[in-house]
This record gives sequence, structure tokens and C-alpha cells, in this order.
Amino acid sequence: MSAISKHWSELTAGVDCATLSHPGKTCHSHILFQLRTTVWGNMQFFIPVSILRLFLLIYTQKSVSWHIVRQTLFEFSCMVANGWVVSNSWSACFCAFYHWFGRIINNYSVSMAALPGTLVMFWMPQYVQMSHARAVFNVFVECWIKSRNHPWMEYARESKTIGTVVFMLISATIGYYAQRTKAVEFWFFAPLKKNSNDHSKTPCFHRNTCQSYILDGMKTCFTFGMILELARKLIASAPRIRRHPPALLGAISRIRFKFVAFLTLYNGLFRFVTCFLAQHRRKVSSYDSTVAGLISGLSYSLSPNFNVFSLAMTAMIQNIWNYISEQYGGLDLVKRFNRLSFTSIAWVLLMNYNMYSRAYYPYAMSKYALKFTDVCSNSQARTASECLAKLFLAAN
Ligand SMILES: [Zn+2]
Ligand SMILES: [Zn+2]
Repeated sequence: MSAISKHWSELTAGVDCATLSHPGKTCHSHILFQLRTTVWGNMQFFIPVSILRLFLLIYTQKSVSWHIVRQTLFEFSCMVANGWVVSNSWSACFCAFYHWFGRIINNYSVSMAALPGTLVMFWMPQYVQMSHARAVFNVFVECWIKSRNHPWMEYARESKTIGTVVFMLISATIGYYAQRTKAVEFWFFAPLKKNSNDHSKTPCFHRNTCQSYILDGMKTCFTFGMILELARKLIASAPRIRRHPPALLGAISRIRFKFVAFLTLYNGLFRFVTCFLAQHRRKVSSYDSTVAGLISGLSYSLSPNFNVFSLAMTAMIQNIWNYISEQYGGLDLVKRFNRLSFTSIAWVLLMNYNMYSRAYYPYAMSKYALKFTDVCSNSQARTASECLAKLFLAAN
């Protein structure tokens, strides 16, 4: 499909916005229809996301309060508004660009039409900025890796051994930086750090016995993995379940148990290795979590998948950045960078890349990414991608 971008001008000569984005409709009626239908489209996508967020807040704060419910509702409306603006920005600007320039300008028409809408992220609450930037970064990593066609890249992509080794190195890097920073980033393990009012009796900084410390971690990761998988299945098959409720059973049976086993073992192995090393020399060394991160990374071979891989890359970059800000926070450049909303900038750049990929590399995107671009845009993204493919096929 990358050939489309190379022969763009020949392909799109004499083609109007209707042919590519709204066949059989006028621009005006198309945009009115989109404005209306994407409200429900976005709500449909963000309802399960917000229910999961509510459960996680209740789980971490160990209480249910009106405050938590209000916070989740507020974030839900922000996410719906954001998705609505991005989607309609694409539909409206795609037509507007065509009418201004009299033709569909290069592939920028496809990738830049969402730009004005993505800028809204700068006014979104921190949770929305963070979660959206992470999600779109994961989509980007997966799509970028899958769409490269260099022979080495193709080989590395297919090889379970290379995938596991790279994951082990990323995991070791997370362990190295996470032990050296005060900020705590979400990841499936967290190195224990000594605090001043620590009265633990073990040399490895936890209160209970090593055995219960390891089992507790595995239990939490198992629960988390099951909730995550269940939510993923529910989000993906919500429309089908509404039409046909017994489809719920089918969705549950397709839960990736190997993935849950990986999460559980990953955390368990990490805790086991750190405890083993600390008990062995009766003292924690600053390299224990690096070694533990490396060894526990082996469990990735149980369930190699792009979601975990790109999530690990995000966690690694964030931990490295936290380390740089904590160590060199006084430097002017670091201060200036910290003041910028880094997550919003990442979202703007990557979301526009996402729109570009949806059109040119739909085969390289994860099913989840295709789902959210299509549900949130009420199939506008799919229609445009299909029209583009038809144009390409007709020319060949
Ligand atoms: Zn139009
Ligand atoms: Zn221990």
C-alpha cells in the first residue's frame, strides 16, 4: 500500500473528496451525519474504558466514594469530547482541504486533516493526556514495526527468540532506572526501595516473608491480567453482545490465558530473583532489579505480543525520562522540556500518524487500533481506507 503515497498525484487526479471519504453523499450532509453519529460512537467506545478505570480506582484506593465516581464521569466526558473533535476534524478538514486546493493534496490531506482536532488534547485533564498518549504510542510502535519491509526487520518480527531477548533487555532497563528514581511508573513489577521509617525484618525491604511477598505480587498480577483481558474482550465484542447476549460466553472463552500466565510469572520471577539475590548476600545491591528484570523477561516467550512489547517500550522511555529529570532537573533544557506538555505533543504527532497508517497500512495496525479508529469515527476511517484501496486497485 505504500505505493499509494508514491503515486499519489497520478492516482488522485480528478478525484474529489466524496469519492475518497463520503461516496454518494454531499459534503454538507456527510458532515452533519458524522457530527451526530460520532457522539454515540465515542460513548460506545469509552463506556467500557471508563468502567475499567472506575474499578481500578476503587481497587487502588480501596474505597468507593462520590468523588471517584465524579472524577470518572468527568474524565469520561472529556474522552468522548476529545474523540468526537478528532474524528469530525478529520471529516471536515478532508473536505475543506479539497475545496480550498481544488484537489486532494498529496497524502497530507489524509494525515493532517485530524490535526486541528488533536490540538484539543492540550486542554484535557492529565489522566486523559497520559492514557491517550500511551495508547497511541503503543499503536504507533506496533504499526511501525509491522509495516517495515526490510528483510532483517521481517526476520526479527517473526522470531520468538529475538523478540524475547529484546524484551529481556527492555525489562532489564526498566529495572535499572526504576530502582534509581523516586517517581513510580506503572509497570508489572516495581523494585522495592528502602524508606527512612522502614522497619522490615528481611534484607529485601518488604515486611512479610519472601514467600508471601512473591505470592501477593503474583495474585495481584493474575487479577489484573484477568480484568484486563475481560475488559479487552468486552470492548471488542460489545456491539455483538448487545445484539446477541450469549456471545458473551464466546468472548470469555477467547481470553488469552497464556497472556495472564505471562503477567503472573513475570512479576513472580522478578520478585523471586530480587529476594534470592538480597537474601543470598543479606543486602540489596543497586543492580538486583536489573538482573531480575532481565531474567523475568524470559517469561515473555510464553505469550509474545505487540501490546506488551510496546507497553514495555513506553515504560522504559518514561523511566529513563524520570531519571534524567531527577538527576539533571536543574538544567535549563530539561526544565524547558518538562514545562511543555510532552504527552500532548506525542499525542498530536502520533495520532496524525495513526490516521495516515489507517489509510495506508491498515494491515499493520492492531485489531484494537482498527476498532477504536472505526468505532470513534463511526466507520469514517474504514470507508476512507477502503475507498483509497479501491482507487489503487482500479489503477493497477
Ligand atoms: Zn466532501
Ligand atoms: Zn524477600
